[in-house]
Amino acid sequence: MKKQYVIPIFVPHLGCVNECTFCNQRKISGQMKNVTVQDVKNTIESYLDCLKDKNAYKEVAFFGGSFTGIDVELQNQLLGAAYEYIQAKKIDGIRISTRPDYIDKQTLKRLKKFKVKTIELGVQSTNDYILSKCKRGHTYQDVKKASHLIRWFGFTLGHQMMVGLPESTRLDELNTARELAKLKPKIMRIYPVLVIRGTQLEQEYRNGEFEPLELNQAVEICKELSQFFERKRIKVIRIGLQSTDTIIHPEKAGSEVIARSIS
Ligand code: SF4
Repeated sequence: MKKQYVIPIFVPHLGCVNECTFCNQRKISGQMKNVTVQDVKNTIESYLDCLKDKNAYKEVAFFGGSFTGIDVELQNQLLGAAYEYIQAKKIDGIRISTRPDYIDKQTLKRLKKFKVKTIELGVQSTNDYILSKCKRGHTYQDVKKASHLIRWFGFTLGHQMMVGLPESTRLDELNTARELAKLKPKIMRIYPVLVIRGTQLEQEYRNGEFEPLELNQAVEICKELSQFFERKRIKVIRIGLQSTDTIIHPEKAGSEVIARSIS
């Protein structure tokens, strides 16, 4: 089997008018400026230069924010920059992540033209009460609709869920996993909640209204969820946010994490 490489390009908060209580995308990605076409090309070039296995499967991934919520002109420019490398046979595919309520047929037709292969949806929970508590601005119904459309158009479907959200219990999280498995994603990311500076969750935490999971609780539920997805043949490709210069242990200098349950 070919080795796989992901070339990550972060588009923090671009296209997102939402204010999920746990989110501060610029701080999560460690990136404060918006992405340009030149940034896309520079990132791809620098990754391609460093790759040891030139025959590996290479995918450019637009992470963060809500890709399909970006101004369509800019989306097309960013995708077009990556697509040039597909045409030149230097990369094999494109992956994006977005919100369930930013998916429709027209958008999917457009993404197909740029050879986008994988679409990851930020789901977080399938419980509408929990979704509204963290101000997600979409419902589980939106997740079902978007997931069906994505698969119907022939994309690889990915889901992202969170554990330890306000008022979410272990049972809610197991139930989210069961509901998502029915929608047949191929890949899954599981994110234990981090309390990030500048978010509403920070205020709730400081006011004593929110308590993050203990480390051992987060590990246990992530283990349980991973085993469940493994039984369903859904690949868990990530547990926990990637460390950056600022997403590090709360006690380290420069950390934007106020409290955490897992590293
Ligand atoms: S939709 Fe995504 S990018 Fe926007 S605020 Fe929520 S988590 Fe952050």
